[in-house]
Amino acid sequence: MKLGTLLFTVCASLALTGAVSAADLTIGMSIDDLRLERWQKDASIFTKKAEELGAKVMVQSANGNEQAQISQIETMINQGVNILVIIPYNGDALSNVIKEAKAEGIKVVAYDRMINNADIDFYISFDNTRVGEMQAQGLVDVKAEGNFFLMGGAPTDNNAKLVRNGQMKVLQPLIDSGKIKIVGDQWVDSWLAENALKIMETALTANDNKIDVVVASNDSTAGGAVQALNAQGLAGKTLISGQDADLAAIKRIVEGTQTMTVYKPIDKLANNAAENAVKLAKGEAPETNATLANGAKDVPSLLLDPIIVTKANVDETVIKDGFQKKEDVYGK
Ligand code: BGC
Repeated sequence: MKLGTLLFTVCASLALTGAVSAADLTIGMSIDDLRLERWQKDASIFTKKAEELGAKVMVQSANGNEQAQISQIETMINQGVNILVIIPYNGDALSNVIKEAKAEGIKVVAYDRMINNADIDFYISFDNTRVGEMQAQGLVDVKAEGNFFLMGGAPTDNNAKLVRNGQMKVLQPLIDSGKIKIVGDQWVDSWLAENALKIMETALTANDNKIDVVVASNDSTAGGAVQALNAQGLAGKTLISGQDADLAAIKRIVEGTQTMTVYKPIDKLANNAAENAVKLAKGEAPETNATLANGAKDVPSLLLDPIIVTKANVDETVIKDGFQKKEDVYGK
């Protein structure tokens, strides 16, 4: 085949599939909230990997604002990105803007959090039900009776619901047998520490400080709750869970004011997401190990394994992996 014919064939087949080569590829990464430590890690690892693979990455943070996220995605569509990688603020609010993207032939990946009722191409996350199971198990391994307070994540985040389902798998039998009493159940808007602090203060007052265990769904909310517990002299006495292995949380675990966290190796998630986003944009199939229904379809998914962290294994998990530095955790 002559070079001209070959080029024509390649270009024609690319035009037919809507695929592009990595060098011409722009990824639009729309992030709920870069104010939280964990998403800064995701964004930088993802961008580095995608750039190594030859793609350009445009990153935007909506700072926990639903409308801002929708207009940022619209801007990316207008700027001609080839693929959108979205960490939704509200997984139920993006159906329309994703319709617009798909009409332009743009592929869509839901990153860490599912996007419901939308024709997305791929979902990549950790097994969030497992995260919730680990949190509840980590707590009941230490204390399987008494007054438990449930602190859910953001009500707009599908993960918060999956995590709660996982927690209840472990807690329900103990509630049914009367060992555990649920003394309150609140969800924390935007997963923010300041909101968790207020919720915990109110819960402590309402229960005369008689709360033995707080089932917190991540580390930022655990941080707010521990502040409220501390003000009542309960930090280190009341057990509390978390998720993300944030530096502040690992420090609390080492000093004994947080019982456990769930470590999710973000480099695996971000690197896998970048590789699969590039594959998808080139018209190739992503690597999957599950399918999850999102109300519109069964979404090809890749779910990674989370890891439980307590004081006993901080060194051989987050520190060994370089996720947190030993000197940052233990000081000098
Ligand atoms: C993530 C957590 C994170 C939380 C708050 C969830 O969707 O899975 O890792 O702590 O959002 O940003």
